[in-house]
Amino acid sequence: MRMIGLIGGMSWESSAEYYRLLNKGTRARLGASASARCLLWSFDFAEIEALQHAGDWSRLTERMVDAAQRLEAAGADLLLICTNTVHRMAHDVQSAVAIPLIHIADPTAERIVTAGFRKVGLLGTAFTMEHDFYKGRLTERHGLEVIVPDDEDRATVHRIIYDELVAGRIRPSSREAYRAVIARIVDAGAQAMILGCTEIMMLVGQEDSPVPIFDTTAIHAAAALDQALATDRSIDEAQGTTTLASVKSASFSETPY
Ligand code: GLU
Repeated sequence: MRMIGLIGGMSWESSAEYYRLLNKGTRARLGASASARCLLWSFDFAEIEALQHAGDWSRLTERMVDAAQRLEAAGADLLLICTNTVHRMAHDVQSAVAIPLIHIADPTAERIVTAGFRKVGLLGTAFTMEHDFYKGRLTERHGLEVIVPDDEDRATVHRIIYDELVAGRIRPSSREAYRAVIARIVDAGAQAMILGCTEIMMLVGQEDSPVPIFDTTAIHAAAALDQALATDRSIDEAQGTTTLASVKSASFSETPY
């Protein structure tokens, strides 16, 4: 099994879920006592959140590149950034290491396309819902049409993530608010919903949505396991490439998202 490098702590609530899912998945695939080979670089999220809200994306990029390089030096064979928002830096992170980074939007979009959906709703932080690094990748690489909540609903979704979910607070009133936002996006034509923030699965699940839910945390962890456990040959077949190193170039073109 390849060593999975996790850039996490954003927040630790979702990193703990990644860790659980990777280990559970390894047990299911390899046997009861098997567990995931992984390395976790866990940031202090207070520092990361402050940089995000100050708009200091270049400092944030430096921090992410540093973490990726440390994980690579420590023996990681592949990398995950355990948050959707910080995929804003995915291109810079991938460019700084020789091991492949699995972009969270790619396996998510692949599952949606395979399920036959074209119009998806997106819930996440304001950064993820409003900037192009994420929506642009879904649209231009995967041909999806992305519907985001209106201004007021985006503010609600964002506030609940930063004030509650990253702090481990689960409030029934916030679940109701998310349910209402999801219902409005479905009314606007969404055939499926992306939980595009790695903590949202703590608050809502399939029972809160009239359309299928695609949880980026679970999908990202499963994609990492697929790659960590794949033989080189099956990776070749899946990616249409010849080596792990070329998975990197297959996953990332010049497009900076
Ligand atoms: N984990 C969240 C995400 O997936 C938000 C925390 C962050 O800003 O990184 O976007």
